[in-house]
Amino acid sequence: MSKKKPLMIAFVGTSGSGKTGTMEYLTKQLTELGFKVGVAKHIHEEGFTIDTVGKDTWRHAHAGARVVIGASPNELAVIKKTSSESKFEEIAETLRNQDLDVALLEGFSAAGDGIANIPKVVTASDANGLKYTLRRTAPPILAITGLITRAQEKIGNLPAPLIDMKRESFLLTSLVRRCLRPDEMKEMLAKAAKKHGGTCIGLAVGIRAAYIASNVFQQDGSMPTKITCGTKHCIAEAFRTIYPRTPVRVEEVRNDRVLIESREAKLALQLAPKEKNKFSGIGQVLRVPDKVLFDSVNLTSR
Ligand SMILES: [Zn+2]
Repeated sequence: MSKKKPLMIAFVGTSGSGKTGTMEYLTKQLTELGFKVGVAKHIHEEGFTIDTVGKDTWRHAHAGARVVIGASPNELAVIKKTSSESKFEEIAETLRNQDLDVALLEGFSAAGDGIANIPKVVTASDANGLKYTLRRTAPPILAITGLITRAQEKIGNLPAPLIDMKRESFLLTSLVRRCLRPDEMKEMLAKAAKKHGGTCIGLAVGIRAAYIASNVFQQDGSMPTKITCGTKHCIAEAFRTIYPRTPVRVEEVRNDRVLIESREAKLALQLAPKEKNKFSGIGQVLRVPDKVLFDSVNLTSR
């Protein structure tokens, strides 16, 4: 059996804060990007069984079988009877045996379930819910999202970027993808640098922008039909490398905006004002949070 360690991400938030929807979205996006995704859900209900009372599998378990396996043409269900709640380490071990790239965990509490050191996505539906969950959540926190929107951002200093699922959900995909393939963006930059005759800050910014766009426009096969850069040529060059079949135009008017359009959607990336993005090097451009590099990222469906 394979022992690939999946990246585990725990989703924490009060009930109704958008945990399941966010996980569902991420599972779909990451699967389309070619990652193998697993999900583990902690169910707090005493006496709960995933089995159906009265069915054969239930009868075997009820008679005392410790493990009951139900196998159908498209499913393999292993029901393992436990006397006490499965310890987190046992659940983690089960996930490690499934040849997964990433495992999303729902319903585990940082206090008792051993997820303290696991990266977390905090979901909240409003500022109060967010404050409540943050008080109970130990770092590392990857992102804050769920039903909360950026309009409710007046919450003070946040320990992680707030991602508005309605408008910029693909930034969450981008964030997790970078944890899974940390060198992917550097490889993209190296490829662009060959054409460009070397690296520069502009090229690195362009790669960041094209990378974000690739989380929107690549999975469903809908390649962009048009890319317009109100920027330096270096940024356009990055897009030409990532999207070799899409016409990339540099506009006379420099508005520091990149517009990526397909038949279905339009993505606008507005570069943050100069005073906000004084970078000392390319490594820094590749690392800073999206909000530092881009003042706004807006996806609209057509
Ligand atoms: Zn350049």
